[in-house]
Amino acid sequence: MEGMAAALGTLGIPSSEALARQQPSAQTGDVQTLDYDSMAKLASNENPYGPSQAVLKAMQDAAKYAHRYGYPDPGIVEAIAESHKVWPENILLGAGSTEILKVCDEVFLAQHKTLVGVDLTYESVYRFATNSKADAIKVPLLEDYRTDIPGIIRAVKTNYRDVGLVYICNPNNPTGRIVPKQEIRRLIDNVPEDVPVLIDEAYCHYVDHSDYEEAMHYVRDERNVIVTRTFSKLAGLAGMRLGYAVARKEWIEKMAPFASGNYTTGGVNVLVKYAAVAALKEMGNSTQVRRRTTDLRKKTVSELTAYGYDVMPSDANYFMVDIGEDVDLVSFDFQKHGVLVGRKFPPYDTWLRISIGTEDEMRRFVAAFKAIMPPIKR
Ligand code: PLP
Repeated sequence: MEGMAAALGTLGIPSSEALARQQPSAQTGDVQTLDYDSMAKLASNENPYGPSQAVLKAMQDAAKYAHRYGYPDPGIVEAIAESHKVWPENILLGAGSTEILKVCDEVFLAQHKTLVGVDLTYESVYRFATNSKADAIKVPLLEDYRTDIPGIIRAVKTNYRDVGLVYICNPNNPTGRIVPKQEIRRLIDNVPEDVPVLIDEAYCHYVDHSDYEEAMHYVRDERNVIVTRTFSKLAGLAGMRLGYAVARKEWIEKMAPFASGNYTTGGVNVLVKYAAVAALKEMGNSTQVRRRTTDLRKKTVSELTAYGYDVMPSDANYFMVDIGEDVDLVSFDFQKHGVLVGRKFPPYDTWLRISIGTEDEMRRFVAAFKAIMPPIKR
């Protein structure tokens, strides 16, 4: 295995053995033919326990409105606003935070503006920017995989006239590393007031680190920050599609015409609105899910480390492990062992991202890892 990886590195082309092993990655489109329900699903950073009983009941009760446009509004915008101590005017709903990221690109990167972010990060924003024919400056991660905030500030200042949006994912996906609160402050204090800093907090609920803070207070202070959140992760509603932005009123007004969430014929369905109101009531009490996730992450990481593999430090419900060869070469092997793993994240081609599933799923993953990957002696 190490020999093959070394050969690949030297020649720069995959061997025929490597090509033979290269199979479709474990992304959702490819698993339809597999027994999806029986797989350990460690590819997409979802909450493996799903919605709570109270949230399921809220959806069941709301099903009686499935055939209506004019159903009673459960007050999701107000409930979100209250949970962050902002006004409903500061909230924009989307069919998942993916829609909000797309809207940010459409609004703030129009007329060929430039997006500034890091490489590696959650790449949807870059994909949407490409669709909008915007440019992007990707600042490489630091050697210890942290976000290079001084590098981002430099990129913004050097290209000030062109920059339309700055994107920070905190904690970062796929690395799991946080941007400490002092660095977020430094960024916001150094980016010109008219350039929005989009802070994607999809995984904020999982972080337990004294240097981390949620950025919502910058919105309350009318700073140039847009925070995005999702019900797809801790709230366990990924398949139901609800996310939102929190930002100053003028920016929400600019974004609203491009988003489908704030009107009943848009992309946010009745079930998820009711579900999210119920979920918000419990978000602060999800300590059990968070603790279980963190404990399982630490346990799995220490097993892989003891087996000889390098793992990136993570504060989220996923982590990356360096398998020493192209991730595409092993994805299918994991599928054959009943485990769906993260896809390849160029340029970190040898780093496999693993989401934290249930205890049983993690046991199956470690067993598969040991069956597929050889131990590394140090
Ligand atoms: N932001 C980050 C960092 C993510 O990892 C994801 C999904 O994996 C999203 C946003 C989009 O999530 P959703 O559209 O389900 O809200």
